Amino acid sequence: MNIVFLGPPGAGKGTHAQQLMKYMNIPQISTGDMFRRAIREQTPTGMDAKRYMDKGELVPDEVVVAMVKERLAEPDCQNGYILDGFPRTVAQAEALEGIATIDVALNIDVPDEIIINRLSGRRVCAACGGTYHVSMLEGDKCPACNGELYQRDDDKPETIRTRLAVYQEKTAPLISYYREKGLLSTAVCVGTIEENYQKVLAALKTKD
Ligand code: AMP
Repeated sequence: MNIVFLGPPGAGKGTHAQQLMKYMNIPQISTGDMFRRAIREQTPTGMDAKRYMDKGELVPDEVVVAMVKERLAEPDCQNGYILDGFPRTVAQAEALEGIATIDVALNIDVPDEIIINRLSGRRVCAACGGTYHVSMLEGDKCPACNGELYQRDDDKPETIRTRLAVYQEKTAPLISYYREKGLLSTAVCVGTIEENYQKVLAALKTKD
């Protein structure tokens, strides 16, 4: 099954994609994670992407599309995948149509107040990539692997505002884009992680 996860930053796309990846045994393809890795490795793509990411803006379509195209050609994608954070513009969705056949676009619908609270309290483990909310943490180490936790630069308040505005302008139109193609399914996620995950699983079995 080829799945696209839609939803604003902080909707839980990464969290639920990781749960689903284990359940369905298909890879999670997070363009944000791919860029963060490229930045750590100081590749040319990483250096280019960093200029946009630090400001909360989108990396240009052609850079992202080329990266995803290469990734989807790898053997582990042949039985399906979860695209997490891609496409983020109509131009990316159109380019994706030339590369892959999408079975479902799952829209994770979360109100703005919840998003802002989640993003500003989000911490990421530098070692395993796990994400946590400060309210769930007892110390300053990763509960899963004891790695160092950090706050993403783009989770700082001013950047969060830009990212939400960019989402509304550039990415939210994808909801009607996929609805018109009959591929949209919506999970309204306002509960706990586990409750929301159950909504995601249920939404995968139906279309809106
Ligand atoms: P994420 O981890 O998905 O929130 O992505 C973090 C940042 O990476 C975004 O704010 C963008 O700057 C960049 N990025 C990730 N995916 C895309 C994409 N599909 N198109 C453009 N920029 C992206």
